[in-house]
This record gives sequence, structure tokens and C-alpha cells, in this order.
Amino acid sequence: MTPTSSLPPVNVLNEELRFQKGIGPRRASELQQAGMHTLDDLLYRFPIRFEDRSQVRRSTDLKPGESAAICGDVVSAGLRRTRRRGFSLFEMLVRDDAGLFKVVWMNQPFLQDVFKPGQRVSLYGKVEYRTPGGLRLSNPQYEVVSSAAESSSEDVAEDGKHTGRIVPVYERIGSLATGHLRRLVLDTLERLPPEVDDPLPDALRTRHGLPGRREALWGAHFPAPETSLDTLNRFRTPAQLRLIFEELFLFQFGLALRRRARNAERKPRVMQVDDRVRRSALAVLPFRLTPGQKTALRTIVEDLCRPQPMNRLLQGDVGCGKTIVALLAALVAMENGLQVALMAPTELLAEQHYLSIAPLLSTSRFRVVLLTGGSGAKVRRETGSALERGDAHLVIGTHALVQQNLRFRELGLVIIDEQHRFGVLQRATLRDKGALPDVLVMTATPIPRTLALTSYGDLDVSVIRDLPPGRRPVKTTVEGEARRQSVYDFVRGELTAGRQGYVVYPLIEDSEKLDLKAATAMADTLATVFADHTVGLLHGRMKSDAREMIMRRFAAGDVHLLVATTVIEVGVDVPNATVMVVEHAERFGLAQLHQLRGRVGRGTDQSHCRLLYQGTLTETARARLSALARTTDGFEIAEQDLQLRGPGEMLGTRQSGLPTLRVAHLTRDHDIMEKARQEAETILSERGIPEAVLAHLDDAWTRRFGLAGVG
Ligand code: ADP
Ligand code: MG
Repeated sequence: MTPTSSLPPVNVLNEELRFQKGIGPRRASELQQAGMHTLDDLLYRFPIRFEDRSQVRRSTDLKPGESAAICGDVVSAGLRRTRRRGFSLFEMLVRDDAGLFKVVWMNQPFLQDVFKPGQRVSLYGKVEYRTPGGLRLSNPQYEVVSSAAESSSEDVAEDGKHTGRIVPVYERIGSLATGHLRRLVLDTLERLPPEVDDPLPDALRTRHGLPGRREALWGAHFPAPETSLDTLNRFRTPAQLRLIFEELFLFQFGLALRRRARNAERKPRVMQVDDRVRRSALAVLPFRLTPGQKTALRTIVEDLCRPQPMNRLLQGDVGCGKTIVALLAALVAMENGLQVALMAPTELLAEQHYLSIAPLLSTSRFRVVLLTGGSGAKVRRETGSALERGDAHLVIGTHALVQQNLRFRELGLVIIDEQHRFGVLQRATLRDKGALPDVLVMTATPIPRTLALTSYGDLDVSVIRDLPPGRRPVKTTVEGEARRQSVYDFVRGELTAGRQGYVVYPLIEDSEKLDLKAATAMADTLATVFADHTVGLLHGRMKSDAREMIMRRFAAGDVHLLVATTVIEVGVDVPNATVMVVEHAERFGLAQLHQLRGRVGRGTDQSHCRLLYQGTLTETARARLSALARTTDGFEIAEQDLQLRGPGEMLGTRQSGLPTLRVAHLTRDHDIMEKARQEAETILSERGIPEAVLAHLDDAWTRRFGLAGVG
């Protein structure tokens, strides 16, 4: 190694990038903008792919159709005029040992500033044959190995880090192209001391056959020449696997610590269940629970009766009946003299819960109140003091519940419905209104298994897999605009048969006004199209009593067709509604469409969903819609969604408590996540927190993952 390796150990990685050779103020700020401050940040930003340049070819040996690497000197370069407007052709002549070769790029005029005669370049791309001009390399990936004026960097090229082997390709950062980054990374690696401190305990590394940190960092940037290109690009070499393991291990270790801290918590009052409580619960039950509901309820009640606070996720597809399970849990808490808060993401849903729950409790001695942003000042005041005195036992509301001045006498159970719509913070704030209350969060957006190990890693999970008896899967089709008339005919058939339906309009925040107008206009049009039936309109901008009125009329069957924005995504429950038309289905996400569709298929009649789209579908929109038409299984849809969108998009990284990962990939590396979790648990329980882990943990959690501290 180079003499610099005698620098004091460990600290190299903490050095700031802006003090490195070759990084001026401009680049320093570009790096900073990309979130890169230290050499550690640099080394943990891995190549986006690798290219095999060990096979540099002679230009005269190339054949049309193959992809190849060539290396040579730029003879001439420039934009060529073309007759097509808006189309440019950049042409370059390169000389290698064998002769001259033509290279072209389409529509990349900025290359004028990249290539100059005299430069040495390395190119990789597809060889084509075109009638005028013959053989050429077209749109290749390129790298200027050395500029005409700059000879000092030739040595880097010649020792083979840039060419003549497997070469890492980095994503550009501002003005720092892949070549620069490669040089920076190489310099840094060469300065690493022989021993780099390692958060992975030796025994663990041996068990999983993982190399040390130093070796792994080298291998993940500059792999040995014999390494398989394919394995590298799939991120599965031992070096890469080790770095993935390192990241996931630190993450899982933090989660394990959190779980341990939680297990040490003790609620002020542990609930009890006796015959009186059971009778009280049975008295409100309007139907027989499904086996899935029973199991979930039993688990939840066990949690309530344990000294540690419950922290449970109840997961179950739309319509599986989570509300009644939550209500029964609420009854147990109330029978134990504790108050309960049920928080829903929209006013409409809170109102719906209130309307369905209040009658069930009317014969009990418990008082239920509603509190939303729409509640007037007087109602708020009264509700507030009733809760503070303990005269109200169950409060149903929106995020209005987390407002600062709302206090409880003794809040024992917090229930959060459709939790995917809330941030971690809101959950925590509501929870803090009690003294270590039990927390139950519910969601119909299934968390794929992969993610269950992450953001939800500190939640226990219950799943309801069955639906209430008699339900039939909704039949779903995808239809273009040309089919509108026949879709209307179909809807008319359902309405004439005495059933009801929805027409859903997308509402995009940016164009909310326009969309509202469109939805309103649509309601008018449909009132004419379905002149024999009553058409109603529902959207989030309506006053809450107007909304309540239309919902009551729809529930009572007086309104037959409800034109609505996505406010009906959660909570609306009218079993007689059997048909849903979604306008502009291409604009919705998969999970959202699935939620929307859950508004039909709630009774025993066959229900239908028609997804109408405008224009031509993009490939991903088509994939979304056809996934929806293919299956009604929310779990399958969630997995699809994860594939199509990635975890960050799906849950919203900051919101959900998902870590920002540098190497690992939540879907690709699921198996490693599982192993990391097991290792973290075992090591923590057998040895406590190893020194080496401790040294990295806090920094990893706060600075890198962007999560609140471990503690
Ligand atoms: P979600 O899980 O989507 O919140 P809900 O709790 O709103 O589902 O329940 C959907 C519908 O199914 C409601 O009308 C509810 O009354 C009904 N339901 C729930 N459980 C049962 C059951 N065991 N038997 C019959 N109907 C049920
Ligand atoms: Mg629900």
C-alpha cells in the first residue's frame, strides 16, 4: 500500500471532502448538495454499475450488432447539421491502434463541451451499420481518460483503474463526472489504514462468510479482474453482500434495542377481562365474528392484559371488518375504566365511524363523542372538558385529536385507523396524551413482508385474512374512452335493478379547483344520462353537514349514483353499492385504486369495477391497471405496488420511519434483512451491545438513515 496508510487509523473516513485534493469550493458545494460531506459518504456511494473494459477491441475487428469497448484518441469532433428539425447529431472520429472509427450520438449537443481533439477516450456501446458512412459506434457510454493537456492523470489510466479491466461507473454529481469520482474514491481507498474498524463482530462475519470492511470497500469499488460482471451488477459479490449486511445489521440492531426498551416499559394500569366484560362486548356485537377477527381480537385483548404497552398493527384487506375488532377492544378498555381515542385520517371517515359506532353503544353506559376540524368551537370546548372530566369515554376524530390543549382523564387505548395516512409523529403525539397507553394501528394497505421488517419492525402484527361470509371478489375491467357508452349502459342496468354505484373522480392537489369543477360538471352530465335515477355529488370541500346529509341519503338508498372525489377512498360502507366507475384511472396509484374499489363488494351481490382511462397508457399505468383487474388480493397488490414504485414512494420515506439506505435495497435484499435481524437479536441478548457496534450505531441511525435516535 501507499505510505499514507500510516496515518492515524479510523479517522480517514471522517475527513471532510472539501479538504481533499482536487476539490475546490464549487465541487465541495456540489458534493454537499448531494448530501456528501465526508470520505465515508464518498466510499458508501457505490457505482451504479460496472463495465467490463478488460476486453478492449481493435476497431477493425468490430461487427455490426455487437457491443464492444474501444479505446483511442479523438481526431475530430463536432455537431453535424441535419435536415430534421429538433434533431442533432454529434460526430466524432477516433483513432486506435488499428485505424479510424466513427462514433455518433443523437441529440446530445452538449458533447461539444466534452470532447476535444487529442483526448484519449474510452467508449463502450453498440456497433451499427448505416448505409452512408458504414460501421459506427452509436450512442456509446464514454469516458475521457485523459485530456490533451493533462498528462498527470495518465498514470491512473495506465495502472488500469479506468480501463483494461472491470470499471466502476458512478452517477455524476454536479460537475464531477464518473472519472473524477473514480479517482477520488481510489485515492481514499489507498489511504485507508490496514485495519479499518468494523461494526460487524468477527464471529458474525465468519458465520456468514463476509470479508472485513476494508477489503469489502475495495472490492465494491475496484473488484478483482476475475470477478463476474453479472454478479457485480446484481450486487451479490461477497464484498457487496458484506456492505449490505453491515447496513442492515446496524438498522436491525437499533430496532432490537428499541424493542428491548419497550419491553421494559410498564403501563400504570393493566386491564382485566372477566365475564362481565365479555357480556358487555357480546351485547354490542351485531354479527358473528369471522375466524380471522376472532384471532385478532384474542391477541389484542391478551396485549391489553399484559403489563407492557401494546404496540400492534392490525392489518387486513378493505372490508375484512377491522372496525368491529377495534370497537370490541375499546369496550374492554372502557369496562376497565379507561378512555379510548380513535383517530381517522379524514373527516368523512371519522363521521362514518361515529355514525356506525354510536348506535351500537347506545344501550351501554359509555358515551361516545366526535371531534374533527369541522366541529365548532363550542362543541370542541364541551367535548374537551367532557374528556378531561372523564364523562366521555370514547372519542372519535381526525388529527384534531392531537391538538395541544386536548386532555384526557385517563387515556388507556389509542386506535389509529388507516395508519398509512398518518406520519409517525402524529401517532406519537396522540400516544403521549396518555401514560403509556396501549396503541393499536390499523391499515388496509397491506405492508409487504419486506417492509414489515423495517418501519414496522417495532410493531407486532396481526393479520385478518378472511372476509365476512358471502362476499364475492369484485369483477374489474380496464376500459378506454371508446367504451364509455357501454360502461354507462352497464351502470344503468345495476341502478335499474335497485342497486347503487359510485363514479370516482381524481383530485390532484395542484389542480384541485379544476378537478372539482370537472367532478361537478360530471355530476350534472350524469344527472341527465341517468335521468331516471338520483345522482349526488360528494367532495372534501363541502361543509360537513352537507356531506353528512348526502352520505345519509346515499346510505338510505335515496341517492342512487354518487359522484365523488377520492374522499370516499376510506370508510364509506354501503353494501347495496355494487358498481364503481373510476374516471382517469391512469392517474391513481395502485394502492389507492384498491382502496377505492373496496367501496363496492361489501354485500352479497356480485360487484363490478370499471376503470376508465384517457389517451394511451404508459407502461407502468398499464401494469397497475392490469394488476388490479387480475386480483383482488390486497397482499398481492401491495407486493406489486412495491415492485412498481419502490418502498420509499409507497410509504413515503420520512413519514413512515423507513430508513434511507445507502447500499441495501429493501426488496432486493429481503433475505439479508431477515438474517441481520436474527443476528441483531441474538447478539444483543447474548452479549449486549458490542463496542464496535456502539461506535457506529448512533451515527448510522441519525445521520445516515435519517431516523430519530435509537433510544
Ligand atoms: P375494514 O376492515 O375495511 O375497516 P369494516 O370494519 O368497515 O372493514 O367492515 C366492512 C363491513 O363488513 C361493515 O359493513 C361491517 O359491518 C361488516 N362486517 C364486519 N365484520 C363482519 C362479520 N363478521 N360478519 C358480517 N359483516 C361484517
Ligand atoms: Mg376501515
